Amino acid sequence: MAKVYDVVVVGSGAAGGMAATELCLKGLKVLMLERGPKFNIATDFEHHRKPYNFPFRGRVRPSERAMYNYTADEWNKKHFVNELENPYTGKKFVWVRAQAVGGKTLHWGLVSLRFSPQDFKAASHDGAGSDWPISYEDVEPYYSKVEDWIGVCGHTDHLENNPDSHFLPPIPLTCAENIFRGQIESKFAGRPVIQGRSATVTKPGFHGRVPCHWCGHCGRVCNVAASFSSAGVLLPIAEKTGNLTTRTNAVVWRVTTDSENRAKSVVFIDRITRQVEEVYGKVIVLGAGTLDSTRILLNSRNDDHPDGLGNSSGVLGKYFCEQIMAGSISGIIPRLKGNTNRGGDAHPEGGGIYIPRFRNLKEKSKDFVRGYGYEGGGGSSEFPGFANKIPGFGAEFKEEVKKYYATVISIGSFGEVVPRAENHVEIDPAVRDAWGIPVLKFEVEWGPNELAMGRDANDAQREMFEKAGIEIIGERTTPLPPGWSIHSAGTARMGDDPKTSYLTKFNQSHDIKNLFVADASCFVNSTEKNPTLTILALSLRTADYIAEKMRTGDLS
Ligand SMILES: Cc1cc2nc3c(=O)[nH]c(=O)nc-3n(C[C@H](O)[C@H](O)[C@H](O)COP(=O)(O)OP(=O)(O)OC[C@H]3O[C@@H](n4cnc5c(N)ncnc54)[C@H](O)[C@@H]3O)c2cc1C
Ligand code: SF4
Repeated sequence: MAKVYDVVVVGSGAAGGMAATELCLKGLKVLMLERGPKFNIATDFEHHRKPYNFPFRGRVRPSERAMYNYTADEWNKKHFVNELENPYTGKKFVWVRAQAVGGKTLHWGLVSLRFSPQDFKAASHDGAGSDWPISYEDVEPYYSKVEDWIGVCGHTDHLENNPDSHFLPPIPLTCAENIFRGQIESKFAGRPVIQGRSATVTKPGFHGRVPCHWCGHCGRVCNVAASFSSAGVLLPIAEKTGNLTTRTNAVVWRVTTDSENRAKSVVFIDRITRQVEEVYGKVIVLGAGTLDSTRILLNSRNDDHPDGLGNSSGVLGKYFCEQIMAGSISGIIPRLKGNTNRGGDAHPEGGGIYIPRFRNLKEKSKDFVRGYGYEGGGGSSEFPGFANKIPGFGAEFKEEVKKYYATVISIGSFGEVVPRAENHVEIDPAVRDAWGIPVLKFEVEWGPNELAMGRDANDAQREMFEKAGIEIIGERTTPLPPGWSIHSAGTARMGDDPKTSYLTKFNQSHDIKNLFVADASCFVNSTEKNPTLTILALSLRTADYIAEKMRTGDLS
């Protein structure tokens, strides 16, 4: 007889990794399915190899360019999907997908921001979209537990729209960041420039983890796990319990149900051998990432669930949301020019500066609802990008580059894309991936609200730079395409009403009692803030709920 696990978890990134770890700690036997391989983060990445030791200076070689997404490079490319094997159709959308134990947390940007009380009730504030069925107070204990667990550094700022975390010491600002901050705060009332909040350990003695050594190579996977990744921080804890079984190279195709309308099994295809296999769980948790979890649910349709598993509401695939990256700007601070620099300003990702949302908090803009924040940074890392714009070569060129080393400052906006039913994904039955599984079709595009918001963000970035006396050296005012922020959310939103939402407020399917979705598919709106801290908090909350319901016999 086939083994029945307490819980089968699909995906091993922020959502799957957190759910699996918490469930293991609660004593449940967990099978985690992951389509990619497992890497040793300490040894499998050429973390500190210099760009000039690669044929194309660390860029993916031209002959392989079509195989990878825009964030891939020679250091990290092996844990992304091969785009040619994993197509999708519809309107232009940039879909960055990991394929490895740890998911996208292996190489994420580490920016960790709590949502605010208003974010969970934004519709009540401005009438757009829907409120969440939960409040900030429901999630707060889970934010705190996650932060005490993974380590988030930052400064306590007491901002209503950016609640403080339980912070480790913040990452110090560079010279350029300090000057920029002084200029903006003196010239723009109510526009603080705060220190970046990053999922990085910045002091010794935090759960025995090695603190950051300021190499600035987080995008290549942190080889000492000073920054948070599911693979480096959570899963080793789960493994120690003896309750976790990990099945790698398992490309999940669909979830099956039994005659009592319970989720019964997960069917997957071995990525290497192409063999079809089936595994059984008392509870099934999808944490494959927004869009991949929804794809699995839509591909799981059967006679009892003809529109996709548990989709009696018809909302599965709808109300996609994310952030628009409308523009960015960079420049140099004249008074720093000519100071030959002592070295790099490298620091972990997620550091630098953050300009929190200042639109539509109290007052209401006539042009758009919601708002945007800016991520940014100043100074230069080991190989500064601006050097490409300086002509020349040899020793003279290097001296010229050094003159600008400390001067550079850049910011870019992330604006909330308010969910609309018409921004949706569906299955394209005509196209299959390399394993024969039907692919997603994207019907997502920018609407008038985000375009108006983007114009405002672009005007505001220029105004700030001009008033701060910065010499502008580069500016982008054309929005990047949908998907580019890699902050996809929605498509299986939570709600109290089973007719208008897919999940309950505990991430449980309204229609199928033992089916849960733990990732950002559950989001009701995306806010302007990066999603991962909230994904981790909600996944932890989901796992606690499952463990409690299994203990009381309500789920098993
Ligand atoms: C370059 C970059 C920078 C980022 N910066 C930030 C940031 O600064 N702050 C922030 O909050 N977020 C950031 N993000 C986004 C962040 O990484 C995601 O929000 C987070 O990883 C989502 O977690 P998840 O578990 O939902 O998905 P993932 O981390 O993607 O994990 C999903 C896992 O499921 C697996 N999977 C998918 N489909 C299947 C299937 N059919 N069968 C089996 N397994 C499957 C995948 O292989 C993957 O391992 C960034 C992402 C990238 C790539
Ligand atoms: S800067 Fe710090 S967090 Fe980033 S890779 Fe280096 S040691 Fe890890």
